[in-house]
Amino acid sequence: MSFISKNPANGEILGQYEELTDQQWLDKLTQAQTAFVAWRFKSLRERSDLLRALAEYLRAHSRSLGEVITKEMGKPIKGSIGEVEKSAWVCDYYAENGEKFLANELVATEAQESYVSFEPLGVILGVMPWNFPFWQVFRFAAPAIMAGNVVVVKHASNVPQSANLIEQVFNQVGFPVGVYQNLLVRSALVKDIINDQRVQGVALTGSEAAGSSVASLAAAAIKPSVLELGGSDPFIVLDDAEVDLSCQAAVASRLRNAGQACNAAKRFIVQSGIYEQFVLQLADYYRAQVMGDPLLETVEMGPLASEQILKDVIRQVDDSVALGAQVLLGGQPLSGSGYFYPPTILTEVKPGMPVYDQEVFGPVAAVIRVDSSEEAVRVANDTRYGLGASLWTKDLVLAKKLIPQLQVGNVFVNNMVQSDPRLPFGGVKKSGYGRELSVYGLKTFVNLKTVFIK
Ligand code: NAP
Repeated sequence: MSFISKNPANGEILGQYEELTDQQWLDKLTQAQTAFVAWRFKSLRERSDLLRALAEYLRAHSRSLGEVITKEMGKPIKGSIGEVEKSAWVCDYYAENGEKFLANELVATEAQESYVSFEPLGVILGVMPWNFPFWQVFRFAAPAIMAGNVVVVKHASNVPQSANLIEQVFNQVGFPVGVYQNLLVRSALVKDIINDQRVQGVALTGSEAAGSSVASLAAAAIKPSVLELGGSDPFIVLDDAEVDLSCQAAVASRLRNAGQACNAAKRFIVQSGIYEQFVLQLADYYRAQVMGDPLLETVEMGPLASEQILKDVIRQVDDSVALGAQVLLGGQPLSGSGYFYPPTILTEVKPGMPVYDQEVFGPVAAVIRVDSSEEAVRVANDTRYGLGASLWTKDLVLAKKLIPQLQVGNVFVNNMVQSDPRLPFGGVKKSGYGRELSVYGLKTFVNLKTVFIK
């Protein structure tokens, strides 16, 4: 089998890459295991120096690397450059804080000395998605490697160029061969890789179906797993919210990456007193979005990343409209080449419609009118997912009352939901388990070793 890199803006084939043979991926695991034996005992200083070099390289080459992202999955170039720079940030963050986070934790007991130490586990597999082809990988790999693990990555099939490039970048800045490796393999092989005795854990970022499968395999093999899955994040706008600011955030959160983000706002839950004003202003902002060739600096929204995603969005919108949703804006794919779907606003959205019940990976705002903050919370929680929630109100006393009622992994008040190396990231319910980023992400794949010396 071969992997094809195809530009979703115009259908151009950018490259074709052969899948690794069985012998090749087995050799890569051997290489990883060999690298781990030395890497785990490298000083924290040496590890952080290499992460800093990696960050520098990413920043120095953000445009050329960003162009690969843009051509391969359609993200507007500014966003792709930003993604590479954010990947540099996470490397710097762990270079800066790794030593502090991994220091032994002393515990007072009757022993002469007792403490908890954090030791690496070994070869960790990352199964990664295409929507942020650099950022998702770096936010998994940087902490795992800082902790002394080595990683192998099975990236999404539609981003083979980005996948290969990331491995080249690690090697280029001087990481020992085998610390980071790309495995160009089909998802069917993930089972064999997880079962390989050299692999000690797996992190998956992707869909619920993939997460469920990978988690079952990891459980059967008794290996730890972290799942970062989908979301249908609520964006709650209460009557006293600042309309313009909330609309600007609503645009950024829903239309960034053409709506293909796990933590994008997907359901806009708006209180009746502010509803008309919010929806009209949102529509104005949506209309003003510049769509087109994502390589142009002026373009704000590119195509969807693949024909399948476009088909899914069309089906979800059409089925919702057939069930009574009203199209305020958009609602039809653009004609011509490329997988373009315009900014779309659906109102009168109700349970039972795909845009209410399912994750929509496209630029579609599903708007739901509610009469009170209690109803807003009830609707917000009325989903199988629990990744993030954005809450807009000037009443911070009320906000603090509502925060514990929201069944999500993170709440942002008067701000869109966003990932940040300094803050833990992850969800509850079908959005997965475990956390990436921050100190918690660094301690995901470590052996918390208890030491008691008498
Ligand atoms: P996907 O189809 O699940 O693919 C993700 C990765 O899993 C790819 O590498 C894919 O390989 C692999 N995969 C798919 N099925 C598998 C299986 N049965 N066993 C093992 N591996 C399998 O998801 P996607 O369409 O690329 O990404 C979109 C999803 O990711 C959305 O649901 C989104 O919300 C979620 N996501 C979550 C986060 C988060 O942090 N929570 C971040 C970004 C995206 P192939 O490409 O070869 O199939």
